[in-house]
Amino acid sequence: GSTIGMLGAGQLGRMTALAAARLGYRTHVYAPDAAGSPAAQVCAATTVAGWDDLDALERFARSVDAVTLEWENVPVATVEHLRRFTTVNPGPDILSVAQDRIAEKSFVNRLGIATAPWRAADSADDVARAVTEIGPRCVLKSTRLGYDGKGQARLDAGRDGGAAAAAAAAAWAAIGGGKPGVAGIVEGFVTFACEVSVIVARGADGQTVAYPAVENRHKDGILDVTIAPAGVSAETAAEADRIARTIAEALDLVGVLAVEMFVTAGGAVLVNEMAPRPHNSGHWTMDACASCQFEQLVRAVCGLPLGSVERVADAEMTNLIGDDVLRWPELLAEPGARLHLYGKAEARPGRKMGHVNRLFPRR
Ligand code: ATP
Ligand code: MG
Ligand code: MG
Repeated sequence: GSTIGMLGAGQLGRMTALAAARLGYRTHVYAPDAAGSPAAQVCAATTVAGWDDLDALERFARSVDAVTLEWENVPVATVEHLRRFTTVNPGPDILSVAQDRIAEKSFVNRLGIATAPWRAADSADDVARAVTEIGPRCVLKSTRLGYDGKGQARLDAGRDGGAAAAAAAAAWAAIGGGKPGVAGIVEGFVTFACEVSVIVARGADGQTVAYPAVENRHKDGILDVTIAPAGVSAETAAEADRIARTIAEALDLVGVLAVEMFVTAGGAVLVNEMAPRPHNSGHWTMDACASCQFEQLVRAVCGLPLGSVERVADAEMTNLIGDDVLRWPELLAEPGARLHLYGKAEARPGRKMGHVNRLFPRR
């Protein structure tokens, strides 16, 4: 049997390893925090001090048949080193784009795909200037390493009035502005009708499949519920699909890519961000599609034909965040509810502990 090497050891790695096992593959995760992690409970694991141990990386690369990742912020230098010994997908060029919001938006805009208006900001003055240029309501984000809405601060010049400069300074400080390596991006605030995402899988031969656009509802910056398919018009769904495929193609992706988008009341589709890996908004595919997103990743990186994305049911995925997971006995007892727990010991607030899929007859 062949072994997939997985960089990162969280729940996405765990669910990929479970899908891999179903197809007869072993998985070996490699991460600084692998010991006791969700993924290490279901497959082999190597725990390392950091991502920069060249000897450990070489040993890992030589012990597996192909490497993929469940976290897009693995240092590019790590992936470049691994590539001297084995194939790694998605590769360093894709990670460079996905790790930095400025690179990401520039890449998307160059393809003629719309985003919110944005400006790079390297100081509180830059933030204040961007708000006057873009419009009163903006979001300042750190360009790198944010997730679940962390590293973001909202700005509203209308609300802040004459104190706009102070508000910009406060926002800049809130995202860690001024600390080494911290850069910012100011985005216009999009008053969206809904948020959608499309997950694309693409093989080394260029074969591409995409799941239908789904609607994502957030609570406190964290994904709460995904509704599949999204209740948007056929035109909007087709546009979201086209955008996601265009990006996957332009990235020359091998693997799985999630593209998060805003849909405005007028029907415009704007890209928010992307992740070159399985995505929380694709967990519904585990119970509602012929092949799930994790199986597609395995197929793509192992050179197998991609699976069918056929939706056998409509679905609603609800995340179990923090103490939500304490409801597991009730969810287990609920007829038809499909419970997925990640094996995390501590239910810290804001932590993704599991999810539940509920299926409905196709509309
Ligand atoms: P994720 O956990 O999805 O990786 P993240 O921390 O990378 O999240 P974003 O996806 O950029 O952050 O933002 C989180 C949420 O905040 C979005 O899903 C959306 O609801 C809201 N948001 C972000 N940017 C904007 C914007 N420009 N206009 C309006 N809402 C926004
Ligand atoms: Mg993100
Ligand atoms: Mg997001």
